[in-house]
Amino acid sequence: MKRLAVLGAAESGIGTAVLGQKMGYDVFVSDSGNIKDCYKAELEARHILWEEGGHTLPSIMDADEVVKSPGIPDTVPVIRQLHEKGIPVISEIEFAGRYTKARMVCITGSNGKTTTTSLIFHIMKKAGFNVGLAGNIGRSLARQVAENDKDWYVIELSSFQLDGMFRFRADIGVLLNITPDHLDRYDYKMENYAASKMRILQNQRSEDSFVYWMQDEYIPEELCRLKPASRQLAFSDTENAETAAFIGENSLVIPAFEGFEIPFDDIMLQGRHNMRNCMAAALASRAAGVVPSDIKAGMKDFPGIEHRLEYAGEANGVRYINDSKATNIDACYCALESMTTPVVLILGGLDKGNDYTTIAPLVHKKCRALVFLGMDNTKLQNFFADFGLPTCEVRSMKDCVRACADFAQVGDTVLLSPCCASFDLFHNMEDRGEQFKQQVKALQAEA
Ligand code: ADP
Repeated sequence: MKRLAVLGAAESGIGTAVLGQKMGYDVFVSDSGNIKDCYKAELEARHILWEEGGHTLPSIMDADEVVKSPGIPDTVPVIRQLHEKGIPVISEIEFAGRYTKARMVCITGSNGKTTTTSLIFHIMKKAGFNVGLAGNIGRSLARQVAENDKDWYVIELSSFQLDGMFRFRADIGVLLNITPDHLDRYDYKMENYAASKMRILQNQRSEDSFVYWMQDEYIPEELCRLKPASRQLAFSDTENAETAAFIGENSLVIPAFEGFEIPFDDIMLQGRHNMRNCMAAALASRAAGVVPSDIKAGMKDFPGIEHRLEYAGEANGVRYINDSKATNIDACYCALESMTTPVVLILGGLDKGNDYTTIAPLVHKKCRALVFLGMDNTKLQNFFADFGLPTCEVRSMKDCVRACADFAQVGDTVLLSPCCASFDLFHNMEDRGEQFKQQVKALQAEA
């Protein structure tokens, strides 16, 4: 019996264990932290061996193959030793992909993955496809393959997942953009990170499709180098009849296939970056066989995802927008770009090596005031010191929203788009966004 070791026992690890057992592997699950009780109970019920609080090397080094959670870096000792011993280390998606005949729509990029993946899934499901949503969202691909396999999957892929993929093939690949993120895992080299993202193309054949953003700094150059075999479907910010899709005056124009347009008024998502996501979704779902009328129907009622430019309410004539998921500069740039009123901007948290120069012109142009919400705001204070804007420093969401309300004037927008991770003051970005929304509700109750 082949032995499978699974490192990391969250949704993707447990799904892998379930599928591995079903496929006849002797499975061992190991987590260096604590495993959630519900997952422990599931492993027990299936008589799958597990450990927590550390990795027992002999049991892992005996494996024929190892599936690693994307959160575990290659530099940890156990992974180094596996590489030294020549034991294959793969990702959950690679493993699950072997056991299904379903067709795959895979989405990656530095920003916009969750939004675009959810939109494509929404369009396909509404159009009647037998489709599953997987990757970083919801239930793992492995579990779905094991328990309720589908004809199609729409999968969100991070660069870490792509790093563990070798033979997997995306029938339809989508690469939204490549901007600096997670560089700590790529030797601080953009070319390493870009190469990881380009893996979405690997193994594609001429009957497959690849959807990408034409104005990206890296993608077109990488494509010249890689010369993929698949059908190339580029989308563009500006009118360009050569491309498969572009942003027109009043609509998204899609010359590819037999050609169609989607008027902006019929799209619920807002903002230029979301128009890019919509073009990507339209091309990917069209390549999957969804007819234009069904694509339009899906765009019309897709409201967006929580914590991504989410409208959080209005108090005293000021609109509040929750973009807590903006944990890097590019996401904040897009948020500011889409603002049509003066902005009180909330920045701060754990900085992953940000260079705020990119957003400086938009801050000059659009911001009325800045509120710094973090344990240590020194970098922000120093960078924005000469901007001539009122600023203040806060360490709780309650103080933060109050300070914003004081700075804001009727007609303004308060935007939480902090450019930073949340773990210094909050459990995670969802907690930060929830607290923001609660405080906006409290303001409304007082108004
Ligand atoms: P991801 O899953 O890649 O993190 P999300 O859809 O969760 O992407 O969005 C993350 C952040 O990036 C949000 O702040 C969102 O407003 C912003 N964003 C969404 N799409 C894009 C895009 N195409 N380009 C730049 N930023 C984007």
